[in-house]
Amino acid sequence: MDADEAYRSVAAALREAVEARGRAERQLADLRGRFDQLVDVLAGKGLLAEGHRKVLDRAGAAAAGAVKPRVRLRAWVDKYRIPNADVDCAALYPLCHARCCSLSFELTTQDLDEGVVRWEVEEPYLIRHEADGYCSHLDRATGGCGVYARRPATCRGYDCRGDRRIWADFDRRIPAPLP
Ligand code: SF4
Repeated sequence: MDADEAYRSVAAALREAVEARGRAERQLADLRGRFDQLVDVLAGKGLLAEGHRKVLDRAGAAAAGAVKPRVRLRAWVDKYRIPNADVDCAALYPLCHARCCSLSFELTTQDLDEGVVRWEVEEPYLIRHEADGYCSHLDRATGGCGVYARRPATCRGYDCRGDRRIWADFDRRIPAPLP
């Protein structure tokens, strides 16, 4: 098994685990709803005092707070319908050095279904970066995108002109300091 195959296999297993967790969370929410109804019935019959309900609510809130969701996924959007910003990236690359491709952002389920864009296995589903801090798909020599036709929604809709992380002054073509 080569590195790409290993990555795809881990990614598929992780996605399956995340989806299983989503199902479990929906079942838990359903149980919680039924439990609340039961508490209402018991309180209505005078078998639970108001203090009991508060204790149960506190216990539920503490349990929910202990579980931090680790999956970040952008709301579904059809990336192929997102218009490109009117910025000539190829002409600007010698100045900006593709700083935008060092930014972190979430993928969508559309990206996951396509299985082309890589994501951080330890932080699903953020775009994957390499040790140099840049996107895994960036061609370091040319500044081109290795998955241009399938690039994520965030890349398509992004406009660097007003982003102070990229440009100190876009009109005067002064890039921001490198991070
Ligand atoms: S997917 Fe392409 S455009 Fe998007 S951050 Fe990576 S290299 Fe840049």
